[in-house]
Amino acid sequence: MIIDDRHYDVIVIGSGAAGATVAASLGQKGHSVLLLERGGPMPLADQNVADVELFRKDRYHPKEQWFGTDGDPFSPQAIYAFGGNTKIWGGVLERMREREFEGLHLQEGAAPAWGLNYADLEPWYEQAESLYRVHGRAGSDPTEPRRKADYAQPPRSVEPFLEELRQGLERHGVTPYPLPLSWSDSPIDPSGDAELFGVDPARQFTSVTVRGGAEVTQLHVNPRGREVKGVQARIDGQSWLFTAHQVVLAAGAINTAAILLRSANDRHPRGLANGSDQVGRNLMKLQQTSILQLAAVSNSGRYGRSFGITDFLWGDSNVSFPLGAIANGGGVLQDALFAESPPVLSLVTRLLPDFGLEQLASRSITWWASSPVLPQPHNRISLRGDRLQINYVPNNREAHDRLVYRWIDVLKAVEADPQIQVVKAAPTHPRGEAPLSAMGYACGTCRMGDNPATSVVDLQGRSHELSNLTIADASIFPACPMMGFGLTIIANALRVAESVSSTLSSRVP
Ligand SMILES: Cc1cc2nc3c(=O)[nH]c(=O)nc-3n(C[C@H](O)[C@H](O)[C@H](O)COP(=O)(O)OP(=O)(O)OC[C@H]3O[C@@H](n4cnc5c(N)ncnc54)[C@H](O)[C@@H]3O)c2cc1C
Repeated sequence: MIIDDRHYDVIVIGSGAAGATVAASLGQKGHSVLLLERGGPMPLADQNVADVELFRKDRYHPKEQWFGTDGDPFSPQAIYAFGGNTKIWGGVLERMREREFEGLHLQEGAAPAWGLNYADLEPWYEQAESLYRVHGRAGSDPTEPRRKADYAQPPRSVEPFLEELRQGLERHGVTPYPLPLSWSDSPIDPSGDAELFGVDPARQFTSVTVRGGAEVTQLHVNPRGREVKGVQARIDGQSWLFTAHQVVLAAGAINTAAILLRSANDRHPRGLANGSDQVGRNLMKLQQTSILQLAAVSNSGRYGRSFGITDFLWGDSNVSFPLGAIANGGGVLQDALFAESPPVLSLVTRLLPDFGLEQLASRSITWWASSPVLPQPHNRISLRGDRLQINYVPNNREAHDRLVYRWIDVLKAVEADPQIQVVKAAPTHPRGEAPLSAMGYACGTCRMGDNPATSVVDLQGRSHELSNLTIADASIFPACPMMGFGLTIIANALRVAESVSSTLSSRVP
């Protein structure tokens, strides 16, 4: 094993939305940081794919197989690169609503409260929106949480055919609002991501070292099992050992838990920081279904996400529990998540034989319905030998189905409206759920809380058991947000970085 002779203030593991944000924030505060990322730079040509190429089967799947609920191996969609999954995300950055933090009453039961309030995250949301150059318009989403000021950048303009559709939707009683989007405005790489807004700024600080191709395999503890003493990583086939005062795990909700489970030792036989037996449990995946609508006019299939609808977020006329959110998916040929939904494609192929992907793209409009799920201990990741086993059965299904059918009713009403020329009535609206392999929206596997018996980390993300270990990614979420939670990850990472920085500053030299 090669032992790095430098001792850092902090080692950050993973350079996605959470890790890149933590590294840049700590670098800015002057701490010496080592950012370890298993992947490397993703070529620009692979990042913003807007082509039928997107549907290539192995695209965005690392050469790694996990076992699924049925026991069969599957290949997850996961980006191992600087920026993590944000390299292919839609860049929609929404704040959670105030009442989500209090614990939502879903149809199938009550979600736990977060232990934090919206007010605790609000200043960090502001910073996160500014860092990621979020373009949006305050006051346009009827359910948006309170905010101090409008977005610094106005919303991006939408395709003209979508503008007609938006007006039609309004006439049919729903309230489309421009989705808040991270956008760099750079002609070379316009869509914002965690490499652009996290890793690159972190590199500007001389105190930050960024190492790609460094897969962390294990954390080592001191003999009493109370402190992380070393971070072991595989680099070019060799084992390396790195040391730091503080270690921040941000490898994403699946791999963060996997690293802890793989680091089991005599003091922590069930995995590191796992006295509560909660590491890997309570896995939640935002429930997502894509719905296809037939367009009457052709479009390029290559345009970004545009507007969202939250009219059914808290329920419907005869439904008193939350259903979820609707968002326009943007062009089919640049929606990496849609490309993961084979049921939609097979249905389209059956209904419209000879329909190529290009035609599908130019003749369709995609919508995404998202609903939260409840944390359940049996939904979990565990180790099967050295490989990962994912046991996952989504819950809160009926509420999600209601949202999907409700939205299809809205689409039908719009299609029957003679004033709307851009969409047409279709015999059916093909739809497909994001499959198990789509892991981009996972959270909950190392839940935070005050009670060490029922949680892995405290409300600052600090392990209850190891004095210098913090978790910064969505694995610490005690409940599943109602829509994409990239902004909450970034805001929380800024909050966690502040706490790590104060711990470092209060150290006796
Ligand atoms: C197609 C798609 C579209 C999406 N669109 C949106 C959207 O519009 N809005 C939104 O809010 N969210 C969106 N998401 C979800 C969003 O991308 C994630 O919530 C977010 O990236 C999670 O951030 P993270 O830092 O926790 O994990 P990740 O972004 O997954 O980053 C984890 C990083 O850790 C690295 N890593 C893993 N294991 C190790 C290891 N052992 N050693 C070293 N490094 C390791 C990985 O390579 C990766 O770089 C989308 C996701 C996908 C897949």
